[in-house]
Amino acid sequence: MTTSMNNRPMRNGLHSRHFLQHQPAPAPVNGEVRRNLRKPIRIMKFGGTSVGDAGSIGKVVEIIRSAARESHVVVVVSAMSGVTNQLVAAASQAEAGDYQRVAAILAELRRQHDAAADALIHSSAERSSINRKVEELLQEGDRLCRGTMLLGELTPRTRDAISSLGERLSAPLVAAALAECGVASEAIEATELVVTDSCHGAADPFMDLTRERCHSGLRPLLELDIVPVVTGFIGATTDGILTTLGRGGSDYSATILGAALTADEVIIWTDVDGLQTADPRLVTGGRTIPEISYREAAELAYFGAKVLHPKTLRAVMQCGIPLWIRNTFAPERPGTKITPSGPASAAGVKALTALNEVALITVGGPGLAGVQDVLGRTFRTTAAVRADVLLISQASSQNDLCLVIASALGKGMVEALRHEFAHDLAHEPAKHIALDPTVAMVTVVGQNMRSVPGVVGRTFAALDRENVNIIAIAQGSSECTFSFVVAKQDVKTTLASLHQEFRLGNPRHLATAAGSAASDEDENYYQPWEPVATGRPNQEQ
Ligand code: ADP
Ligand code: ASP
Ligand code: MG
Repeated sequence: MTTSMNNRPMRNGLHSRHFLQHQPAPAPVNGEVRRNLRKPIRIMKFGGTSVGDAGSIGKVVEIIRSAARESHVVVVVSAMSGVTNQLVAAASQAEAGDYQRVAAILAELRRQHDAAADALIHSSAERSSINRKVEELLQEGDRLCRGTMLLGELTPRTRDAISSLGERLSAPLVAAALAECGVASEAIEATELVVTDSCHGAADPFMDLTRERCHSGLRPLLELDIVPVVTGFIGATTDGILTTLGRGGSDYSATILGAALTADEVIIWTDVDGLQTADPRLVTGGRTIPEISYREAAELAYFGAKVLHPKTLRAVMQCGIPLWIRNTFAPERPGTKITPSGPASAAGVKALTALNEVALITVGGPGLAGVQDVLGRTFRTTAAVRADVLLISQASSQNDLCLVIASALGKGMVEALRHEFAHDLAHEPAKHIALDPTVAMVTVVGQNMRSVPGVVGRTFAALDRENVNIIAIAQGSSECTFSFVVAKQDVKTTLASLHQEFRLGNPRHLATAAGSAASDEDENYYQPWEPVATGRPNQEQ
């Protein structure tokens, strides 16, 4: 099919100047342009593996083409898999002054994107247009890296600009692949749509401004049945400076757009069947959870389930839009539906998650026993180094406390605490503030866990049987989570034994692992492939 590629007129107030339009030859529609959106709006986000090569993009195109028949689709894309890591590496090499390495990385990215374009786009005019776009973006990357080398410093703003190139490369490619298959589409940079604060590397959206931009920038396209292909991961400040939402942030981009457009649903297409009862890389015999609540999914994401960016649920919490996680490579499978309150009947432990990249900081000892406000001062210090405290546990009579934070912040945090308590501990020979980077944090997640007695006791007993030592423990205030700290080397054993203890796996696996099949009456067991509630998207026939 022939495609045409025109530059759309620039719209007022938009910042980015990168517009590509891919439309099949216009079909006669009696000259009538629909003014209103009468079909449901679906936001479909495709992760790095889903757009990892031409073959995968082909599957993505089929899913979108099918969905676009019965709904207005807004596509959000990640960079091709591995590309953001390569760009981050190029930025670091530039800071280190190694231009050869930078050039080699950019050349490899050019090869990767050109190869995908060659396989996906048959029209030579379209293909050269994509090749030019790839070249233009990589030259921008080259200039940013040269600038970094010149200064000998990689600023957060430049790091964002370099790492954003992956999504800016993949969106035009996916849009062109859609056009090739007869789906009118337009690549759009999210700098035009998602207005954020200026917190580079972890930006958050200003929703009112983002809503306005999405209405003016996306609705007109949807009215024309054009599929916008939006870059995930990025946004821009009110001054038009590019920001990123954080690694893995395209999931968050999808829910931000979903909330801004009051979409009917948001679907995160990835490389697994849905949200699993545990990370499939760490536990075998896990199961896809058919339905789960916002709260549970948010806790799983926050405490380590990589399949969702930790902030993904934030954007839809207020509006109740259902969120799905589905498998690009097995679109016939139902996936996981994430709803405001989850399935009515399900109580008890739903899933397990673990965070490996954490450190345990202990504050305590005889020298701090009489010191006033140790807790308050510790928290003020964590706020000053912008560290999220993932777990805290305190022994009140002694002022002893331990907290878990991301390991990248561990050293800085310990220095800041030693500085804060320097005066109090000036004459203390013993170490009062210590860092342990050899730990991991495991979290048990389940709504209404309070109605299932003995979860903590069963956890202790199961880990005792495996000789796993629990170093610290804390129950979340919502009783939806319960977290504890173990040695990194014990994580796999911990997850496997709790997965079995709470009968989270599929029955076949349980029958061999636990010696008997799970019973349907067990409150911590529910059918693996039970039919999913209504409202499931039906984009693949
Ligand atoms: P994408 O590139 O599509 O954004 P990610 O790699 O970010 O995909 O996330 C998907 C991966 O998350 C899966 O391949 C799986 O290894 C990992 N993962 C970790 N915990 C879970 C979980 N509880 N359920 C499903 N996947 C999980
Ligand atoms: N490409 C970005 C990353 O790798 C964002 C994403 O994939 O969600 O972190
Ligand atoms: Mg991801």
